[in-house]
Amino acid sequence: MEAKSPDLMEKLVSLCKRRGFIFQSSEIYGGLASCWDYGPLGVELKNNLQRAWWTEMTRRHENIVGLDASILMRPEVWRASGHVDGFVDPLVDCKECRSRFRADQIDATKPCPNCSGELTEPRQFNLMFRTHLGPLEDTASQIYIRPETAQGIYVDYLLVQNSARLQVPFGIAQVGKAFRNEIKPGNFIFRTCEFEQMEMQFFVKPGTDDEWMGHWKEKRMDYYRRMGIRPENLRFHQHGPGELAHYAREAWDVEYQFPFGWQEVEGIHNRTDFDLKAHQGLSGKKMDYIDSGKGERYLPFIIETSSGLNRTLLMFLCDAYREDVVDEEPRVLLALPPKVAPITFAVLPLVKKDGVGDLARQLFEDLSGRWNGFYDHAGAIGRRYRRMDEVGTPWCITVDYESKEQGTVTIRHRDDCRQERVKMDQLKSWIFERMEG
Ligand code: ATP
Repeated sequence: MEAKSPDLMEKLVSLCKRRGFIFQSSEIYGGLASCWDYGPLGVELKNNLQRAWWTEMTRRHENIVGLDASILMRPEVWRASGHVDGFVDPLVDCKECRSRFRADQIDATKPCPNCSGELTEPRQFNLMFRTHLGPLEDTASQIYIRPETAQGIYVDYLLVQNSARLQVPFGIAQVGKAFRNEIKPGNFIFRTCEFEQMEMQFFVKPGTDDEWMGHWKEKRMDYYRRMGIRPENLRFHQHGPGELAHYAREAWDVEYQFPFGWQEVEGIHNRTDFDLKAHQGLSGKKMDYIDSGKGERYLPFIIETSSGLNRTLLMFLCDAYREDVVDEEPRVLLALPPKVAPITFAVLPLVKKDGVGDLARQLFEDLSGRWNGFYDHAGAIGRRYRRMDEVGTPWCITVDYESKEQGTVTIRHRDDCRQERVKMDQLKSWIFERMEG
């Protein structure tokens, strides 16, 4: 059964805590609003999603390379990029109940949506966190904590291009933390003040930007479909003139239908040469790309694909959550694609004695390392299956007397509970084909 009911979020938050995906930060002190810690299974899931993205965006392209830039940068970077002046949201407060809203997300001409009290006039609020570098807290030492990973790529782009001997068109990919002092964080890990972005900045010759925009738009949507997200839960939203960010000429969001509505998971933007021109202007350093073969020099245009790792993770959880009944018993399962599931396989001996337990243990050790496995020998087999279903483990491998005699094990499939017998010495390649194929 598909669970898109409004209480899906509540169920997910509770499952995530119970099974060690995601915990409230600093819980023993009452928790810090909208800050979350990823537990043992959460970190596996997040790493798998990041790895899948990295493989898709770099390894599969000869002309896309990686970068891991510093979170703290010179403050001029954020002046040039327009974030100091332009990265603002309009904020309104209710004078009665003190609720706080983004004026662009409600009808700010009407009373408070919560209590009908009077709202303040909108105030512009800069989303960048500030801190000080060094022991003196004066204005000279003030720096920003990056609100997007993109600028690290832009200021380093010629260093990367020269060292990797890249020619336009080429891309630079980066995964890293970004920080925004959001006016209204919420919806679990959907909107938080600290989050991770997975970005790829693609440098193209001006004039070819529309074509590349179309290319990446299709590629990115196709990726989500190939990763198993249900197509009916995905759509594009094009930004209208009033919605466009200060740096974008054209922007499309990949949106997912969350239980709380259609929301952005990734932005695909044509940033033109806005950023490079601005950095060239403020730094006084030439930022032209030189094509010596053609005798040309120009500032490339940039097509950006910018997605949130945490939002992607939430999308996968929402899309995978199911409830059904097996053998007259209700069960919860996460139908995650095997490639991203936090546990790939579980080894479950049906008996411990007569060497069956030892054989199972040996099998578990043989398979572990490349994939994340789980060994569980305690309790009724039905209960062990259910514990694995709930965290999305695609394959449970049961070991029994026949395993000793015939050298075979049973693989029980998570989604349809189908069972098949596989030779133990072929198990590695059986999993390999399904994980890497
Ligand atoms: P929104 O309109 O939701 O505030 P945005 O348009 O400001 O997002 P971008 O600047 O395009 O977002 O950032 C790219 C991606 O980074 C988003 O698609 C999203 O996945 C992720 N992201 C942005 N802000 C947050 C946040 N506060 N919490 C979690 N992820 C975020």
